[in-house]
Amino acid sequence: MPVTLLYHDVIRHQDDESGFAGAGAARYKLRVSEFHRHLAYIAEAVDCAPGVLEDVTQDQRTHWLLTFDDGGLSAATDIAETLEQRGWRGWFFITTDRLDTTGFISTAQLRDLHQRGHVIGSHSCSHPSRFSHATAEQQYEEWYRSRCVLEDLLGAEIRSASVPGGFYSTTVAQQAARAGLQVLFNSEPTTTESVVNGCQILGRYTVYRGMSAPQAAGLLSSSWPRYQQTLLWNAKKFAKRTGGMGYLKVRELLLRKAYATES
Ligand SMILES: [Zn+2]
Repeated sequence: MPVTLLYHDVIRHQDDESGFAGAGAARYKLRVSEFHRHLAYIAEAVDCAPGVLEDVTQDQRTHWLLTFDDGGLSAATDIAETLEQRGWRGWFFITTDRLDTTGFISTAQLRDLHQRGHVIGSHSCSHPSRFSHATAEQQYEEWYRSRCVLEDLLGAEIRSASVPGGFYSTTVAQQAARAGLQVLFNSEPTTTESVVNGCQILGRYTVYRGMSAPQAAGLLSSSWPRYQQTLLWNAKKFAKRTGGMGYLKVRELLLRKAYATES
């Protein structure tokens, strides 16, 4: 199965200019120049453009995908154009409640991205902080309503989605399938595919601020960096399970402290 990279926003000046505000979100935002460097190294590591075929099992040609979560403004102002300069297209997962709000793309920009050949998918309506802890009915509502909003705006079928915050569970997948979604990306660093009620579940390798361009490209060209991320992810998953909300609070505090001392 393809190796899928998970990016979020890119920023020019301020952390909060695109996407969700706060230190937790900033951790995933790359400077524009950093993002350009990543793509240059990635281009050296791959031999084809990233895949855009939503029936990924039928896509025998491409072995990697580029995904962008949240629907931050930079999708329209920087990321799409940067990809297109290389003849590439990406998958953009949109938090539909944030459309037309500060820091996020507008409905006009959403239509434009779609027309330019990028894949548009759901990233829920409200981006709940702990998606897998919501009731099954709430999860269904998040998937179904966001899918309807996007389909109404684009006049096209929405088949794919990504899980907010990486809070994945089998129930999350079942509700995505029930809402008519056919491909669901989570944040588990794996290339192993599974299927839940007909919905394909695909993992992704997260790219963080500060990850070097060779490191990002290495995720595509070599299995060892991918294995390292998998090990780290499993350790964090254990901490999340045992810490619950405490884990989120401690993480936010640590990040805030790290950023306060950096600047
Ligand atoms: Zn998100």
